[in-house]
Amino acid sequence: MLQFAQTAEQIGATGSTLEKGRVLAEYLSTLQSDDLSRAVLWMSGQPYGRSQRYRLNLGWKAIAQAVSELSDLSSAELSALYLKHSDLGDWGQEALAGRSGGEQVSLGEIAAGFDAIRLAKSAAQKQRCLQALLARLEPLQVKYVLKILSLEMRIGMQEGLVEAALARAFDVPLAAVQRTHMLTGDLGVTALRCQVGDLEKGELQLFQPVRFMLASPVETAAEAFARMRTPVLWTEEKYDGVRCQLHLSRDGRCELFSRDLKETTAAFPEVVEAAAGAGHELLIDGEILAHRGDRVLPFSQLQRRLGRKLVSRKLRLEAPVVLVAFDLLWLDGEPLLDLPLAERRRRLEALGLAWPFLLARLEDAADPPHLDQIFAETRERGNEGLMLKDPQSPYTPGRRGLAWLKLKRPLASLDVVVTAVEWGHGKRRQVLSDYTFAVRTEDGRLLNVGKAYTGLTDREIETMTKHFLAQTISEHGRTLVVKPEVVLEVTFDALQRSNRHRSGYAMRFPRIVRLRPDKPASEIDTLGRVEELYSRYFEREVPLAEVATGPGLAEAAAEVAGEDSAGDGR
Ligand code: AMP
Repeated sequence: MLQFAQTAEQIGATGSTLEKGRVLAEYLSTLQSDDLSRAVLWMSGQPYGRSQRYRLNLGWKAIAQAVSELSDLSSAELSALYLKHSDLGDWGQEALAGRSGGEQVSLGEIAAGFDAIRLAKSAAQKQRCLQALLARLEPLQVKYVLKILSLEMRIGMQEGLVEAALARAFDVPLAAVQRTHMLTGDLGVTALRCQVGDLEKGELQLFQPVRFMLASPVETAAEAFARMRTPVLWTEEKYDGVRCQLHLSRDGRCELFSRDLKETTAAFPEVVEAAAGAGHELLIDGEILAHRGDRVLPFSQLQRRLGRKLVSRKLRLEAPVVLVAFDLLWLDGEPLLDLPLAERRRRLEALGLAWPFLLARLEDAADPPHLDQIFAETRERGNEGLMLKDPQSPYTPGRRGLAWLKLKRPLASLDVVVTAVEWGHGKRRQVLSDYTFAVRTEDGRLLNVGKAYTGLTDREIETMTKHFLAQTISEHGRTLVVKPEVVLEVTFDALQRSNRHRSGYAMRFPRIVRLRPDKPASEIDTLGRVEELYSRYFEREVPLAEVATGPGLAEAAAEVAGEDSAGDGR
């Protein structure tokens, strides 16, 4: 572990990506297989590879507690030290500085320590396992173990650089490393294949989640045509649900994965049950939506299903789901990634999948005005926007290229006032970069509605830091409550009901559009406006008829909807 920590330290110390790659490649080339896969994963801040599907479930509190038990410092000293670093690893290293020498601990022993933490049943047990592991290490090793456990190395080692280092260490083509990584989604597996020169069979495997293809944002219809350069552009409805990858074997084994490749099979039993009878080997890419009858339910209903290990019959009836399929990556033993989208879609439609499977609504757009019209129609139906796809494009996992674009204009922006600010992390730990903001009630009270940390330039943040320090009312650890004077315009993807903030609402993906020095806090938007936006756009149910275009699906939907309401007693 010492060598790992020293290598990480060396990588973090240089700003040159070339040098980072060289140092890592040199280190990786000395490692045996198990250590190799651990080292590449840990260097990119992942305790486990994605294909292992493990979660540590180790809270920040347990980590902090373990360090403080081992440290001689008082809790006030530890807090002050944390404020200085804003990084668990750097903090742990200094908190335990000067402790007498650690043991020589191998990467395998550290991995065994991670397993013990993962398998421990309670938070207290996890903390004890971590403490036992840290007690054996010297401060530099502690630093990197904590960084791995907090899933952030902060040494500027993005996955792309690890790929390059692997290519260099094992003298294999970078493109082959990238493709294997793209398909397996797992750097550890990729590293092992590089080591044994097994990059050719870098093909898809059922039940190994594949990274999702992503879309680049565009602002206007004209920009979409300019960027995609295809005579006809496919438009699909952009559904507001959660991404889902379905793997199915012919004998009915079925697993589902979320956008971050976590297994979500248990949360959507109706999809799994229906898939089991398909009689095909399939890998489908799609979006899960909550629905009832002929309506897509608001995202808040789908949220009730997310992360569930067990879904009660009651919840199944209250928030039933469908899988809207838009891509097919594997069919009966054949990987389809390299076929054009139009062909993949043809095969997907030919499957004739029944409810709760639907097909994404598809419409060609011939030119920008036509695209604008389709966009207006989808917005009218209550959808967020459109996905635009090149019908000739292959499926490129994990890539955000120009073959898929997304066109979604912000629904609205709100003018809000900053009520509290927080010190940032990493590069931004010296500045106040996280802003909590509020809207006002008719009688002049301020109610928080969100928190944003993107949108302002570094220079603006620097200026605002000085301003907020001068306007601080009180300090609570990393958070400063400030005089409510600074007005921001913020935008967001959606509004949700939530008790996280006092307004009773929260924003999805809030970002700052600009500072509004021209506007006094007394003129910011009101809670009434938030309520109005919420009921206009997000509490709305979207017609399901517009979602299903698959042959025969509409009838199946009607039939099942009938059964549902009969079973429900409605
Ligand atoms: P965004 O989350 O704004 O980056 O948009 C991309 C997400 O939109 C994808 O990850 C999917 O979850 C979702 N999505 C909804 N409809 C589609 C569609 N027809 N094709 C691809 N992605 C879609």
